[in-house]
Amino acid sequence: MLYKRSSQLFAEAEKVIPGGVNSPVRAFKAVGGTPIFVERASGAYLYDADGNRLIDYINSWGPMILGHAFEPVVQAVIEKAKLGTSFGMPTELETQIAALAMEMVPNIDKIRFVNSGTEACMSAVRLARGFTKRDKIIKFAGCYHGHSDSFLIQAGSGAVTFGSPNSPGVTEGTAKDTLLATYNDIENVKDIIAANQGEIAAIIVEPVAGNMGCIPPVEGFLEGLRALCTENGIQLIFDEVMTGFRLAAGGVQELFDIKADIVCFGKVIGGGLPVGAFAARNEIMNYLAPLGPVYQAGTLSGNPLAMAAGLAMLQTLHNDKAIFERLEAKTAYLHAGIEKVLKANNVVHTINRIGSMISVHFDEAAVVDFKSAAKGDNETFKKFFHGLLQEGIYIAPSAYETWFITDALTYEDLDFTIKAIDKVSKTF
Ligand code: PMP
Repeated sequence: MLYKRSSQLFAEAEKVIPGGVNSPVRAFKAVGGTPIFVERASGAYLYDADGNRLIDYINSWGPMILGHAFEPVVQAVIEKAKLGTSFGMPTELETQIAALAMEMVPNIDKIRFVNSGTEACMSAVRLARGFTKRDKIIKFAGCYHGHSDSFLIQAGSGAVTFGSPNSPGVTEGTAKDTLLATYNDIENVKDIIAANQGEIAAIIVEPVAGNMGCIPPVEGFLEGLRALCTENGIQLIFDEVMTGFRLAAGGVQELFDIKADIVCFGKVIGGGLPVGAFAARNEIMNYLAPLGPVYQAGTLSGNPLAMAAGLAMLQTLHNDKAIFERLEAKTAYLHAGIEKVLKANNVVHTINRIGSMISVHFDEAAVVDFKSAAKGDNETFKKFFHGLLQEGIYIAPSAYETWFITDALTYEDLDFTIKAIDKVSKTF
């Protein structure tokens, strides 16, 4: 496949946008080459500026769980747009989506909408700090919670890809309040809490990690965090920006039957429009302005187009629980197919998967934390990525990302993908 027009468009973009992109991982730095410029997308497919059709395994990094240009979402946005695109005033729509989110997600009484996952996590931490009157937080190496200063300490996703987990511009004062722990290592968390008695406001965690590839929690890890937080008056923040409304209608809280204190959302909840949200019990949420002292705001928060898209998406997921079963079945099929061909071609690998999140690591050891994720063979990954691109298959341009499976994928698409992986892995 040729990507000539994309290369030209990228050269033009580089003149006026830093690195030619508005979010770093899109730039293909980790894999080389130039990014694909998209013209449109429908269902499981992207159509690029050169007229190529690509099977999409990223799906806008998660939101398009039902495929691109999903009709109920598109229609809802069109209808709302005709009535005005932003008011900075309350609308009934916000209450409707809030009430539905509450019905779907366990253990939350109130929710506030923001414009991105970054904002959701940043606001959740501020709320936890205000509520506990403590300053420090624990985050896990390789977990990504957006690009707010406190989180750019050994963050995953693009921050790993670019080899600069600690970004210049984050002050030492901010960095010192973020304590770094090892994912899936509860003893490590215990030690950190013991060394900082009475000072930790919150533990923020991706309850299934998705920003160092996909790393499910080992047995007892989330339960251990819950118990430690309860014992020590620490707020447990589940960052469900990736997992919320994806791994189950009620996210990881439902899937593993574990209660967090504050839950963050993004991606699926906005149906592909810029939406984030954070939610908790009344006692905590009532600490937010205008009821309480913790300030948080947004000119475009609760934007009617975004809320309409989100509501149409959540309604579909709420009304058709079989979606999650189909996603599980399709991803399991893909998992088994990839496993089979990589084995047959003697490619050293580990596949991690939970529900519709899956990642392929080119290392044989179990991938359970940031250190083990970072051991994967990046040269093989580059060949894998570009080989698949040539076959018309788009996976994330970084070894540290999860693939997001969409319900729009057919078994024919999956078979085509498995065959392509067979072909490409023979060339390693
Ligand atoms: N948390 C998690 C778990 C994420 O995966 C992401 C984005 N990939 C974010 C937070 C930040 O969300 P956004 O990019 O919408 O700011």
